[in-house]
Amino acid sequence: MMTPAHRSENRQAISLTPFVSGASIPWSGPWIESEDPSTASVWSRIARCGQEQADEAIQSAHLAFQAGPWAEADGAARADVLERLAVALEARWEELVEAEVRDNGKRITEVRGQFSGLHSWYRHAAEQARNLRPEPQHVAVPGVSAESHWLPYGVVVAITPWNSPLMILAWKLAPALAAGNTVVAKPSEMTSASTLEFAKLAHEAGLPSGVLNVVTGLGHEVGEALVGHPLTRKVTFTGSDIGGRKVAEAAARCVAPTTLELGGKSAQVVFADCDPETTVNGVVSGIFLSNGQTCVAGSRLIVEASIKEEIVARLLQRARGLRMGDPMDPATQVSSRANGAHYRKVSAMIAQARDEGAQCLLDGVATGADRQGYYVGPTIFDGVTPDMTLWREEVFGPVLAVTTFETEQDAIRLANDSIYGLAGGVWTSDASKGARVAGAINAGTVYVNHYRSVDPSSPIGGIKRSGYGRELGPAAIKDFLQVKSIWTGTAPVPDPFP
Ligand code: NAD
Repeated sequence: MMTPAHRSENRQAISLTPFVSGASIPWSGPWIESEDPSTASVWSRIARCGQEQADEAIQSAHLAFQAGPWAEADGAARADVLERLAVALEARWEELVEAEVRDNGKRITEVRGQFSGLHSWYRHAAEQARNLRPEPQHVAVPGVSAESHWLPYGVVVAITPWNSPLMILAWKLAPALAAGNTVVAKPSEMTSASTLEFAKLAHEAGLPSGVLNVVTGLGHEVGEALVGHPLTRKVTFTGSDIGGRKVAEAAARCVAPTTLELGGKSAQVVFADCDPETTVNGVVSGIFLSNGQTCVAGSRLIVEASIKEEIVARLLQRARGLRMGDPMDPATQVSSRANGAHYRKVSAMIAQARDEGAQCLLDGVATGADRQGYYVGPTIFDGVTPDMTLWREEVFGPVLAVTTFETEQDAIRLANDSIYGLAGGVWTSDASKGARVAGAINAGTVYVNHYRSVDPSSPIGGIKRSGYGRELGPAAIKDFLQVKSIWTGTAPVPDPFP
């Protein structure tokens, strides 16, 4: 495991290899280099796996599903293993932090916050496994009883993005394992290190060999090979809508169901009767925390015209005051983009917004320009209209698009003017207006006078192009289970041709 000391003592790039059947497999190349985006220098390299390694990992998971005790064990036995994993995470989460900070440039304060709570996602799934039992069905047919039993799918392929690798993996892995499936995880090629380290920790905590395997590499290579493998029974994907569509198409060819958690262009609707201070805190957290690299980023500010000047002035003051710096420094408030390609994409979208006529109030490319790594600071555009690219397309960066409204109906129409439907926010001191507008916003999660929280007990997921299926919540385990009906005769079968 990497430790903070390791970082200062060893500046050479480390090599990370896939984890299959309970061990790291030897690898001689090819490799993909992973940059530390805060310095734009290579810090690690990961195996560029292909068809052969995809097959090896899927076969390992299949064997563990068929032969091992995992799928056959009752939910309580699996829950005990997940509980041991949760205990190990509580004791050792710090060991995983540096890999993720260095891979994606997320601030150490945020990564620590996510990792210190990682155990809770596994505990929540363990609880669901303990409570899993056949459900009697009250059929109207005389002389029979019927029950619904829960069956795991088998091999689940879990594909994750680069922005919060281990937290998003937990949302998939915990319920998939609790349900009795075995898993092949494919982290983003930009951020594979923490997932590989986590797999070792999980194995040491008692997860049997083959129950969790991790292969690394490119989406269109090893990712597609995993999704299209004939032994893959279920796919769970978080990433862009383009990637999600390809995954769903490939999975459909094998009749493997998919859960897709995709992108967003979420609206923050601010009414003139809001509390300006709490509203600005919520808007700032929605778009500038995690450097805007979150799926629920509240990237469209739809503000009532009469309060716009005040809200925008407060936002500018807060955004200008955020400290940009090294993600390993706990005092840093804005760190780098997650990688060079993303830096170029965000910078290009800011330039395009100017070209299309939006008024740039704060330019994060300029504020990040004198740094060595891939830095783009908080960016605010006013006068953004629904025909502009900045309104329609996800930036996945700290770029806020501001527009105004006059009536509640206008606000709702603007909020829903998106191909996405992941999240939304409403800010008002009128509770009934808050409830009404929250009900009218077409998104999987809407927050009123609050933004951005996630909790094991509350489902998340999108509608429209933001995907389908739900993660977390009371039914999270059910996404990884199939129903089997068992009918039992309780009376002699009558002659069908009396
Ligand atoms: P991406 O779609 O480029 O990649 C995501 C993962 O899919 C990576 O592991 C990648 O290698 C893999 N992949 C890509 N193409 C594939 C293919 N054809 N077959 C199999 N695997 C493939 O997304 P990204 O840039 O890593 O992540 C950012 C995106 O993720 C944003 O759009 C963001 O909104 C979204 N996201 C959504 C949520 C959510 O819960 N809805 C959470 C986080 C991120």
